[in-house]
Amino acid sequence: MSEELNPFKIAQKQLEKSVEVLGLEEEVHEILKEPMREFKVRIPIKMDDGTTKTFTGFRVQHNDARGPTKGGLRFHPDETLDTVKALSMWMTWKCAVVGIPYGGGKGGVICNPKELSVSELERLSRGYVRAIAQIISPLKDIPAPDVYTTPQVMAWMMDEYSTIVGYNAPGIITGKPIPIGGSLGRGNATAQGAVFCIREAEKLLDMDLSKSTAAIQGYGNAGYYAAHIMKGMGVKIIAVSDSKGGIYNPKGMDPEAILEHKRKTRSVINFPGAKNISNAELLEVDCDVLMPAALENQITGKNADKIKAKIVAELANGPVTPDADEIFMKKGIFDIPDFLCNAGGVTVSYFEWVQNQTGLYWPEQEVFERLDKIMTESFCAVHNTSTEKNIDMRTAAYVLAVSRVVESMRLRGWF
Ligand code: NAD
Repeated sequence: MSEELNPFKIAQKQLEKSVEVLGLEEEVHEILKEPMREFKVRIPIKMDDGTTKTFTGFRVQHNDARGPTKGGLRFHPDETLDTVKALSMWMTWKCAVVGIPYGGGKGGVICNPKELSVSELERLSRGYVRAIAQIISPLKDIPAPDVYTTPQVMAWMMDEYSTIVGYNAPGIITGKPIPIGGSLGRGNATAQGAVFCIREAEKLLDMDLSKSTAAIQGYGNAGYYAAHIMKGMGVKIIAVSDSKGGIYNPKGMDPEAILEHKRKTRSVINFPGAKNISNAELLEVDCDVLMPAALENQITGKNADKIKAKIVAELANGPVTPDADEIFMKKGIFDIPDFLCNAGGVTVSYFEWVQNQTGLYWPEQEVFERLDKIMTESFCAVHNTSTEKNIDMRTAAYVLAVSRVVESMRLRGWF
């Protein structure tokens, strides 16, 4: 039988495993296995050439027992409702595993932002907010950036929402530029949170971070900053990739020079001194830490056996399938599961929202100290659960997160 690659089916399968470990009743599982609300919207946009094009968008709110729903927005040509549903469910667990007072949500628009002009992208961003304005608010559902959405997109969306409600509402969205209510440290928060987890994993495995090598798939917000921060800690970045392909140099490469090259040529490939490799080859590079930081289903039952890294740090959401998990366990690869590893982004989004709601802005050092505390404590709690119950790190993260959500639902009287 071929492997299941529908992200929502995978998310449901992962949930089922933790429901079994926790011994939860079917009525509780029934609440959690589907999102509470799903919205599909159609967004007509005037294009620069005078024609009108209608885009399809989604916003899904999986569970709000612990607080308003929170989660990013993707602008991607392959976006599907099932991907958004899976991502919204993972957001519920992500917020719960790091103990921040949010539920899980996610959104997306089927489009290729690389084919839109700046003004078309602005009209689409504003159109999407008009379409979902009734179901979001700083106390109801708070979007953020994700794949192919940027701080500028967040700024247009915040402006549109503020116009609709008639007052400045910075707390409606996070990941904004600093001058209009963004938080210091939000840009590199996802990568920084992952690096705190990698630091803790290396301690457990008796490895020396400053002597490690790393390969990174995806060179966007999460991937580039991971390279930048890891390089600053002495890690050798030996391979990176983007949607066009990858580059490899066992002597190590400079993340800033790669970024400059990508800015000029629109890809990391053909970087001077490096060998071009495919995305498949990148995943199989002999390194200490492999960081998938692009999309779902990159490491599956087909290629997991070829992974040589000692640690896999999942910066992307859903990059490793359940079949690959089994193979990692047999091979003894230490996997830091996605909704723990990449929770730094939503954690600093939470800090941004707190700053917006209180009007008191924090220095960057305070942001990172608080982030370090939350990520380190969450990593240790997941690892302790994994050791105590003799389960893998992903199931342990699920057990912790699901039990927190179930406790909130019970206290609210949902079952
Ligand atoms: P981004 O748009 O900034 O970057 C995505 C990168 O992935 C780009 O470099 C793109 O070229 C590359 N890419 C796309 N398809 C690829 C492929 N098939 N193979 C290799 N590379 C490919 O997005 P991002 O914000 O960095 O998000 C990346 C991942 O991290 C996503 O799974 C996202 O859900 C997750 N994530 C992001 C955040 C955040 O705060 N940005 C937080 C948590 C999780």
